[in-house]
Amino acid sequence: MAKISFEVFPPKKDQGINHINDCIKGLSSLKPEFISVTYNAGVSTENLTVDTCKLIQEQYNVNAVAHLTCAGQTTDSIINQLKIFKDNNITRVLALRGDITPEKPIIELRYATDLIKVINDFGGFEVYASCYPEGHVESKETDKDIDVMKMKDDLGVIDYISQLFFDNKFFYNMYEKARNIGVKGQIEPGIMPILNVNSVSRMVSLCGASIPRKCAKYISKYKDDKDSLVKWGIDFASKQIIDLIENGIEVIHLYTMDNATIATQIYNNIKSFLD
Ligand code: FAD
Repeated sequence: MAKISFEVFPPKKDQGINHINDCIKGLSSLKPEFISVTYNAGVSTENLTVDTCKLIQEQYNVNAVAHLTCAGQTTDSIINQLKIFKDNNITRVLALRGDITPEKPIIELRYATDLIKVINDFGGFEVYASCYPEGHVESKETDKDIDVMKMKDDLGVIDYISQLFFDNKFFYNMYEKARNIGVKGQIEPGIMPILNVNSVSRMVSLCGASIPRKCAKYISKYKDDKDSLVKWGIDFASKQIIDLIENGIEVIHLYTMDNATIATQIYNNIKSFLD
């Protein structure tokens, strides 16, 4: 039997924490393993990540995992952020490098592994990390990222959340290779339902996930019929998850895009396969 975890974005700067309350309430009622909260992605800020984690833990009694990126940060600014996490009882961190941009260049910490070392030195956190079923866009070979998982594992990472993918064979391949070289942490497949043509195109071009031919066919068929695309997207994601659970994967991570209604529909489709 398996469990589910969710990812949410914090509210935008001008929205305030109440904006996300209904979504968190809906997701919490599904009794997830944890809800993770993105950091500094797009327009959200670090403080709203903290506020969202507090809401999840204090109001809804669900474990929160705060994402933390090190691109554009110094060791001191990371230590400062870790203190804020600690002061707010946030003790689970998804340690990421973040995307390198002109606004967020590498200053001191080049890779997620460098960030993990700073977190370990600080102490008192459970560390989560990323993994890439189709390889990270900057990696020339997929297997390089499996070696990176092992480096993260040797630094004590307890849980990996994967980049989104639409063909489970990539995940199984990565999973098997990671286990074969001794990666011990839990490995969660990251599932993003296809609900909108523009957002899926943007995500795919950003992270390099490939679209299987059978998906491309439906995305094209329903490109002007939003309701049918959403219905198909929920069905496709649900089948993808059921296949993963039937193949022994223990925790599924759902990228909710802050839509608790869709997450609940997917949950209802798969709940007989969960604990
Ligand atoms: P790394 O694991 O550091 O990998 C980056 C590249 O460097 C890879 O090519 C890898 O092979 C290579 N590499 C890594 N370590 C080493 C090493 N020690 N030696 C040599 N090469 C190395 N972005 C945000 O801004 N905010 C978020 O909240 C956020 N959440 C995410 C959640 C998940 C589950 C995932 C999968 C991604 C998320 N991202 C987020 C995007 C992420 O920041 C980008 O994918 C980024 O480009 C890489 O971050 P990383 O931690 O995976 O990098």
